[in-house]
Amino acid sequence: MILTIRCVCHNCVMDILLQRNAKGRLFVISGPSGVGKDTLIDRLISQTDGIMRSVSATTRSPRMNEVNGRDYHFVTHAAFARDIASNRFLEYEKYGENYYGTPVEPVQANIEQGSDVILKIEVKGALNVRRLMPEARLIFIAPPSLTELERRLRLRDTDSAAAVTNRMEIAKAELKQAMQYDYVVINDVLDQALAQLACVISAERVRIK
Ligand code: ADP
Ligand code: 5GP
Repeated sequence: MILTIRCVCHNCVMDILLQRNAKGRLFVISGPSGVGKDTLIDRLISQTDGIMRSVSATTRSPRMNEVNGRDYHFVTHAAFARDIASNRFLEYEKYGENYYGTPVEPVQANIEQGSDVILKIEVKGALNVRRLMPEARLIFIAPPSLTELERRLRLRDTDSAAAVTNRMEIAKAELKQAMQYDYVVINDVLDQALAQLACVISAERVRIK
């Protein structure tokens, strides 16, 4: 879309051309497991028009309350391997004992149709997306402390004690990568973190380039 603003001042007439991207934007959100990414993304989407989340495929088992096709496409290792072979993923990674991948076709289709898309993926996948799509904006959600992160993971009560320990080890490594992102939002007070995230999306929507 080309927006022409005609500015008349004294004797001068000036056309200002603003080239607005009719396509959607890609936002990649990462952060340690349990930091509150899903909570923030669900609230962001419910209060913002024109933005949707990509549904990843995973070989992990569904948690209680997770719905196939809404939270993830839960697939077998064999099906995941077939999708890798058919180039169906924009990116994929192993996390813990399981594989996670972003189906490429819906992401591209939604962006083409003008919808913003959110990928909620771990750090290695996020940095791969940046290489493939440099226009993507990377947002890291950080916890106020490691103690609070562990408390949230335990409170969520979806992982075994061993899985929580494993996720805390991965979290320490992930936090070291936060500075490679375009934005870092600390999820301490939920409403404040949500407001900051919404500001990032709004600001990106009015960027000229
Ligand atoms: P993630 O998607 O990053 O794994 P979740 O959104 O599932 O994390 O959140 C993990 C737990 O932390 C949930 O029980 C959620 O209600 C809680 N939580 C999220 N944000 C906050 C916050 N700002 N303060 C306290 N608890 C939070
Ligand atoms: P969980 O098992 O907690 O749902 O997810 C574990 C990790 O995998 C999280 O950091 C989550 O963001 C990440 N993840 C989810 N989907 C994808 C994906 O498609 N690709 C990559 N690289 N990571 C993903």
